[in-house]
Amino acid sequence: MIPGPFTGMRALTIVADRKLDLVELAPPPPPGAGEVQIRVKAVALNHIDVWGWRGMAFARRKLPLVVGAEAAGEIAAIGPDVGAFKPGEAVVMYGGLTCGTCKACREGRDNLCENIAGIMGFHVDGFARDLLNMPARLVLPVPAGIAWRDAACAPIAFSTVQHMLFDNAKLAAGETVLVHAGGSGIGTAAIKMARAIGATVITTVGDDAKAEKARALGADHVINYRTERFEGVVRKLTAKKGVDVVFEHVGAETFNGSLLCLKRGGRLVTCGATSGASTTLNLMQLFQQQYRIIGSFGASMRNIRESLAKMAGGMLPVIDSEFPLGEVERGLARLESRQVFGKIIISF
Ligand SMILES: [Zn+2]
Repeated sequence: MIPGPFTGMRALTIVADRKLDLVELAPPPPPGAGEVQIRVKAVALNHIDVWGWRGMAFARRKLPLVVGAEAAGEIAAIGPDVGAFKPGEAVVMYGGLTCGTCKACREGRDNLCENIAGIMGFHVDGFARDLLNMPARLVLPVPAGIAWRDAACAPIAFSTVQHMLFDNAKLAAGETVLVHAGGSGIGTAAIKMARAIGATVITTVGDDAKAEKARALGADHVINYRTERFEGVVRKLTAKKGVDVVFEHVGAETFNGSLLCLKRGGRLVTCGATSGASTTLNLMQLFQQQYRIIGSFGASMRNIRESLAKMAGGMLPVIDSEFPLGEVERGLARLESRQVFGKIIISF
């Protein structure tokens, strides 16, 4: 990484696999029609950033690329025809460059846009820069009183969980959910959101220190998956019935065990595969037990508004640590090594 001093616009770019450069770029032009200019205040890291940093054979992208898939900032300037925002207003951004006109977009299913032009920070330039122009239709106001670091967790972490648990798995009060990796950014959010609606939460963690913290967040039962087989413990805890919903994102290491934890007709919702992308599936078990397996990726603009409303109501993301822009690699390494409890924030 090249150190400063920087007088212009800083941008954190990926130039090769596992190689980031903090560079100075020309500032963007004044925002055009339908655009706003945003001064970025905080970026939150996600596993998609780790994938991008490691290099992904299947991702079509041109390097160098500005990283950062999830962020909060303030309106620095507005385009000539934009009436919805004013300078200084706190905002978050939808990081998928949707078309806004296809059937899915018109129906508010933004993450199913038929003509998506890429995910910012992964396929196309992202948010880890001082200033950027965005289509105003992809920008959402942040309610008063929410800190930058918290708001930065709304577009992906909180909204992904909101979409998984409620749109997809339809978790309801009185049901039991197994949340994998309860110390992760989305795991911590899932524990809070599930508890808040009156669900019983069982969660897995990788060490005893995290177990304490997960209990403090409201998890009813915590399983250290390194010392106990989580499938067996879940069966005991549910009197052999199984849980209504499993919140999966660990992947190969846990997926089959997760299915064994479901009650008949239970729902497994997954948004990740950090431990490996392939597994085998027993089809007899799938149909006889009438499982529903639901893939979930990203969220809608509505989910971001719902997430911000939860934050305004006092449900804040768990923050593991904050790093300055120049030390993002420390944050990525921490995320990759699964040492985290909560979200990692890059502050500007
Ligand atoms: Zn679309």
